[in-house]
Amino acid sequence: MSTSTLINPATEEVLRTVELLDVPAVDDAVARAKSAQKAWAKLAPAERAAALRSFAAQVDAHIGELAALEVANSGHVIGNAEWEAGHVRDVLQFYSASPERMSGKQIPVAGGLDVTFNEPLGVVAVIAPWNFPMTIASWGFVPALAAGNAVLVKPAEITPLTTMRLAELGLEAGLPDGLFQVLPGKGSVVGERFITHPDIRKIVFTGSTEVGVKVMAGAAQQVKRVTLELGGKSANIVFDDCDLEKAAATAPYGVFDNAGQDCCARSRILVQRNVYDRFMELLEPAVKGVVVGDPTSRDSEMGPLVSRPHFDTVSSYVPDGAPIAFQGSAPTGPGYWFPPTVLTPQRSDRTVTEEIFGPVVTVLPFEDEADAIELANDSPYGLSGSIWTDNLSRAMRVSRGVESGNLSVNSHSSVRYNTPFGGFKQSGLGRELGPDAPLHFTETKNVFFAIGEL
Ligand code: NAD
Repeated sequence: MSTSTLINPATEEVLRTVELLDVPAVDDAVARAKSAQKAWAKLAPAERAAALRSFAAQVDAHIGELAALEVANSGHVIGNAEWEAGHVRDVLQFYSASPERMSGKQIPVAGGLDVTFNEPLGVVAVIAPWNFPMTIASWGFVPALAAGNAVLVKPAEITPLTTMRLAELGLEAGLPDGLFQVLPGKGSVVGERFITHPDIRKIVFTGSTEVGVKVMAGAAQQVKRVTLELGGKSANIVFDDCDLEKAAATAPYGVFDNAGQDCCARSRILVQRNVYDRFMELLEPAVKGVVVGDPTSRDSEMGPLVSRPHFDTVSSYVPDGAPIAFQGSAPTGPGYWFPPTVLTPQRSDRTVTEEIFGPVVTVLPFEDEADAIELANDSPYGLSGSIWTDNLSRAMRVSRGVESGNLSVNSHSSVRYNTPFGGFKQSGLGRELGPDAPLHFTETKNVFFAIGEL
């Protein structure tokens, strides 16, 4: 069995090693999940609801421990990591109401009674990325469990610790053995086996568009259901009629949160030309004010990048001679530190078109509403974005015009557990979160009962 050595990205010290599972271990896990799922689906809805509430309480009692693990494994600043652990609890609480509310439909037809049932799929697999390990895993495994499925989660190779701990907390909370398992392993081994295993009925994949395309193609062989949450290159559109001070003060946090390793990062700032110079004057102190440092410190607003290879990738977008407008600061010495960086390239530059997934933002001027919408949509992605304007009609027009799954007006909010989340175009397929998420882990079964003439 191979192992993965985990490195603390803020110190470059070895944290621990984790065993990576092989194909026979995955097959054993699927067999256990299959039998656990049958018993779980037979439980009364109220019993499944109670089990999820216990799991939520168990997570709540371990927020500090989960957050500390994420700080050490992923370099998230402590305030963010605590929010993430609390978010997992909230997701569990929200969907603990679902088992008792999946009521199906009664449809009026001639000669009988017609009803629909929302049947669980069976065993569902979640493949998670490294950028928000526990929150993104929870968006898949919680509604899937609520809908009566068993779930296997493969965390990213370099950030498995919080997800592994969540599996233990689930067992401690009383979830049946085998129902919710976390299987650390390589994408090419565990991830691929999820795709080919006939007893896995759905894959929830979050990660790069490149791998997402492979997952979808592989799943097609068995007409396996997929939800895909992929890359992004979201626009933050700043019109001349907005509160420019607020737009500039918040723009760094719309892109540099989690060191820019956020699929929703507003990594293209588009500014109306007549306020461009003033916006840049206001943006500079805001960027330089971002506190980058030790993620265990409550003063830190941004930590390091997750790994050395990722640091090298991000660095390749800012070579000598890059059009840097200004940069913030970052610690020197050990750790994968990269300063918040603002670029002013041409519209066709690869820093404008490619997802960098680091603390690098491009700023481009635009002329008018039509130009802003065209520029925002000039991307294969369509995940998130922000629109800054005090004109309500313009806010409506532009938010309908931008091809993106999650927009916010005069703020940078993307994710709430009670609202749907997902991408247009190559940012993904399907939606997570929101009231309907458990339905995406069911098949609709229609049954007609002939009762003759009344
Ligand atoms: P990645 O695609 O490299 O890996 C994601 C997961 O897929 C990992 O667990 C990896 O082990 C696994 N994997 C790799 N090859 C596989 C294969 N052949 N078969 C099955 N699984 C395989 O992505 P990453 O670098 O971990 O994450 C960063 C990317 O994720 C960015 O593009 C980001 O935008 C995207 N992301 C999207 C969302 C969203 O909700 N849309 C959220 C977070 C991250």
